[in-house]
Amino acid sequence: MATDENTNQSLEQLPLVKALHYERLSQMFWALQIFLLVATVQRMALGRVTAALALATTAALLFLSLWLLRQQRYQLAATWMLGLMMGLCYYFMWLSDGLRDEAVLGYPAILVIASIIGNRKIFIGLLVVMVVSLLVLGSFNSLGWYETRQVESNINVAILLVLILLITAYCIRLLINDIRRLMTQLNEENQRRRDSQAQVEALVNHDGLTGLPNRILAAEQFDLMLRHSQRQGQSVALLFIDLDNFKPINDSLGHSAGDEYLIQIARRLVDEVRTSDAVSRFGGDEFVVLMPDLPPDESIIGRADEVLQTLREPMLLQGHELSTTASIGIAIAPADGTDFATLLGKADMAMYESKRAGRDGIRYYNTSMNNDAQAQVKLISDLRKALQADEFSLHYQPKIDLKSGDLCGCEALLRWQHPTRGNIPPEEFIGLAERSGLIVEIGMWVVQQATAALSRFDAQGLPELTMAVNVSSLQFRRGNLDRVVEQALTESAIAPHRLEIEITESMLMEPGEDIDHTFHRLQALGVTFSIDDFGTGYSNLGYLNKMKIGTLKIDRSFVSQLQLSPQDTAIVTAIIQMANSLNLTTVAEGAETQAEAELLAKLGCTQGQGYYWAKPMPEEAFITFAQARQ
Ligand code: C2E
Ligand code: MG
Ligand code: MG
Repeated sequence: MATDENTNQSLEQLPLVKALHYERLSQMFWALQIFLLVATVQRMALGRVTAALALATTAALLFLSLWLLRQQRYQLAATWMLGLMMGLCYYFMWLSDGLRDEAVLGYPAILVIASIIGNRKIFIGLLVVMVVSLLVLGSFNSLGWYETRQVESNINVAILLVLILLITAYCIRLLINDIRRLMTQLNEENQRRRDSQAQVEALVNHDGLTGLPNRILAAEQFDLMLRHSQRQGQSVALLFIDLDNFKPINDSLGHSAGDEYLIQIARRLVDEVRTSDAVSRFGGDEFVVLMPDLPPDESIIGRADEVLQTLREPMLLQGHELSTTASIGIAIAPADGTDFATLLGKADMAMYESKRAGRDGIRYYNTSMNNDAQAQVKLISDLRKALQADEFSLHYQPKIDLKSGDLCGCEALLRWQHPTRGNIPPEEFIGLAERSGLIVEIGMWVVQQATAALSRFDAQGLPELTMAVNVSSLQFRRGNLDRVVEQALTESAIAPHRLEIEITESMLMEPGEDIDHTFHRLQALGVTFSIDDFGTGYSNLGYLNKMKIGTLKIDRSFVSQLQLSPQDTAIVTAIIQMANSLNLTTVAEGAETQAEAELLAKLGCTQGQGYYWAKPMPEEAFITFAQARQ
């Protein structure tokens, strides 16, 4: 009984059943309204005004159930509708022919409706009220307390009617229970089918051991990615990864250790790649990573190297510390093909190339990319060691106030003294450091060194200078730039406004909550911001005010053309005028001649930075330069 109740209840909760109830109730409503209308007209025609009035009133009251229905209060709407109809039938029995009145026929009809749209409680409630009402009317007639028009209306007729009503109710109940049971079964069956379908799909599309997508799903993912990337004019990279030492591990430590090893590798790969990338396993020790949305000029090598790097980290497996390496082959769509199987074959070939070349490396299918790629992989691994090996240093380039000619600040510029290649210019390694993520760590070092140098300048008795440092957008997005800056300022006891953070225009256009967040935290600290290479990016000037930028650094390309190109002179003039009216400082970058410096001062530019005054120089040279200028 309890379970029956439960299934009934859960059935009532089903959206399908709810919708059905709603539909049936509103159909019932309109059917009843039509019936009441016809009956009212008919009674009027027969001159039975009281009856017509009762019918019309019922029709009006019935609208309450429509309103309840719209409020989604189905049971209340049903109760009201059925109770009203029952009351009407009973009223007609009293008014006219008692238990012989045709209104008695309404009772079974109401029960049928109740079983369709109401719940068990409404059904039983109505049945009880009906039985009592019939017995009351029969008794009143029998006892002579109340006379209806028909003589034969009495308690015997009432009992007969009650019996007929009970049998009808019982039959309806049986029928409805059958329907309910069938619906519940159907629903359960449906759910089972959906579950098993999902299970089959998961089995077909995923690798049982690691839970990663398998070859079938990877092919689908690739097609989707390629379609999306091509619309954006971008590429998809396919990295074919084969572990270098899986076989010996599996052979010596056993299959369960081998399985555990693969699961850990899978987890590392998933943690390493971006959310838009897709990792899959092709059986054995072969994994494939798909990287979509690569801009045409972006080299994938930095990210492939990051993957290699995570795989290289030693792994603890059943008490053994294992070193792991992998060989990676890369093919790029659409350049190397747009068909998944073709691309996979090419990446596979490249992977074998990498194995042949001594494992633990990366190879492109496109051999022309290989020399470049190998050199970059080497440079990234050198960069990784450079911080520890103390190969970086900072040079400082003075900034001069163009009105007074005083030294007012400097920009810290990074230098890398490579052990074998000598001095490597920032253009060559900054991009690589950004792509491999190393810039976060290097940038942290720059901030610490620059603020420490500034406090040494103070100690040497130099005037109060500002210190500009260059910051990449990755430092805003990853890492904890705000805390790094805060700590550096505290340690060096430098007032925040003396630290100027140079960012590029394009960075301000990059969307991202984390960028905004870091930006505002830094602003709250009180450091200032300047836009580097101004004029070369997208000039959406709205951000200048919004982001409270303090300084614009006019790009060297305009300054060096000042006297040669009237257009560039116009651009520089416009930038300076705009900056002045917005109360921004302007710094002209890369002035190399006296004529340029004089023209810039005449145009109203605030500061200058360039070879004309001084090249970037090491700390001691800078101090000497500053002291000589005092
Ligand atoms: P930048 O921020 O625009 O730096 C100015 C560059 O112009 C410096 O090149 C500087 O040496 C050079 N320069 C200054 N005056 C003159 C001049 O009169 N004539 C010429 N031809 N060049 C001049 P550098 O030091 O090679 O730096 C290049 C770029 O590397 C910088 O451009 C900056 O974007 C980036 N960079 C340097 N250090 C860092 C760093 O610590 N972090 C980051 N994220 N980027 C850095
Ligand atoms: Mg700069
Ligand atoms: Mg610049």
